[in-house]
Amino acid sequence: MSTAGDDIAHEQAQEYEALLQFLYMAPVGLVQLAADGAIQMLNPVSAQLLMPLSRDGGLTNLFEALAPVAPDLRQQCATFAAPQGTICDAVRLYVHADDRSGGPQVMSLSMLKLNADRLMAVLADVTAQDRRERQLRKTDAWLNAIMTNITDYALVCLDRQGRVESWNESIERVTGYASAAIKGQHYARFYPDGATTEAQQLDRLREADENGWTLDEGLRLRADGTEFWGSAMISPLPVRDGETVPPAPQADDEPAYCMIIRDISDRRDASESLRKAAYSDHLTGLSNRRAFFEAADLELARRKKALRPVALIVIDADHFKAINDRHGHPAGDAVLSHLARTMRSVCRQVDVLARIGGEEFAIILPSVALDDALAIAERLRAEVERTPASYEQQPITYSISIGVAVMDDTLDGFDGLIKRADEALYAAKRRGRNQVACWEPPPAEQA
Ligand code: GH3
Ligand code: MG
Ligand code: MG
Repeated sequence: MSTAGDDIAHEQAQEYEALLQFLYMAPVGLVQLAADGAIQMLNPVSAQLLMPLSRDGGLTNLFEALAPVAPDLRQQCATFAAPQGTICDAVRLYVHADDRSGGPQVMSLSMLKLNADRLMAVLADVTAQDRRERQLRKTDAWLNAIMTNITDYALVCLDRQGRVESWNESIERVTGYASAAIKGQHYARFYPDGATTEAQQLDRLREADENGWTLDEGLRLRADGTEFWGSAMISPLPVRDGETVPPAPQADDEPAYCMIIRDISDRRDASESLRKAAYSDHLTGLSNRRAFFEAADLELARRKKALRPVALIVIDADHFKAINDRHGHPAGDAVLSHLARTMRSVCRQVDVLARIGGEEFAIILPSVALDDALAIAERLRAEVERTPASYEQQPITYSISIGVAVMDDTLDGFDGLIKRADEALYAAKRRGRNQVACWEPPPAEQA
């Protein structure tokens, strides 16, 4: 004789069984994990996708397993503030891992937050799709390469890691490198120190993979250490039929991209003064608001494609009205120039330094997580406190307040990030100025 209770229990067992079967049969990889990445449940497809990434053959923590291809995943999940939602959506992971294991080469990853201590990962092998997309784009890339009206250029082939694999003769004329000297060098060698980060260099290759090409203009470095204004275009080499994309690891040192470096100093000289007027602040030489917001858009667009942190620092000079009143407006201007120089001295070349208001400044720090951003902000604050500005031989001591925030996926765009950094700045002012404050979620969200 069965009771109503038995029926319900039986029904539940059946439902659970169906759910397990669904999980088991699903054609995509599904992983349930704890907030710290510990894997609680995974279906066969995800085991198959993840196994090649596991160094010790065990699969206990998803963040650790994906660390080589998505190093910021842990951080991204940890800083996702909303109680639930999509942490990332169909991000492509380029697995340059062991091809012989038969694992996927391009994976798509979506992370969902179910509740405070449960996450779900959805994984799919998109190697074939990725390849098809690239083949569609490569035609465009080659047309583009031809149409760039190349006159004097150095043509360099790069391997998958961005190392120089072969080159044309003009390499020496354009970059000063005797051709043998650059074999195996990373392409960052053509950029001045600190002009790119490793993450940006990888981004460029990924951008080339995804869009068929990527182009940037800026200072380039010659072998003798002198700099010139150049453009560099990178595009993936066409894949021959039957070849895998990306190539198998034994083909790691085979050419995968072509890079065209051009010396465009002439063009730059002509447009430089126009560009300067449009994009930089005349008093301090830093970026102006327009350049700042354009740079922010670019950085956020890149962040969407590759998981990684972006930090924002906003700075406001303390009691600046009083400085003007006491020393005069020109002295105030000298203080602002001094602040800009101090900002330059603590920042890297890749950081975007801008004057966004009268005595308000901001810095975008690509690939910098919160702790480091706070450290940089504190260094800047301390440096300003330590070294007074000077005007007509008179030292002028002043201080600054700083707000710091980092991009996360609860934020829709840059406006939200600026708002957070501003809130932190006001907190620093409220607490007595001459200090750094970090954005904190309002008490309701913390709970
Ligand atoms: P706090 O930020 O600490 O609250 O006080 P503050 O005195 O700095 O306050 P507020 O931001 O209201 O004042 C900013 C002052 O900065 C007002 C303006 O006269 C001055 N200022 C703005 N732009 C310039 C500039 O280009 N040169 C000089 N010398 N002063 C400027
Ligand atoms: Mg102000
Ligand atoms: Mg002020």
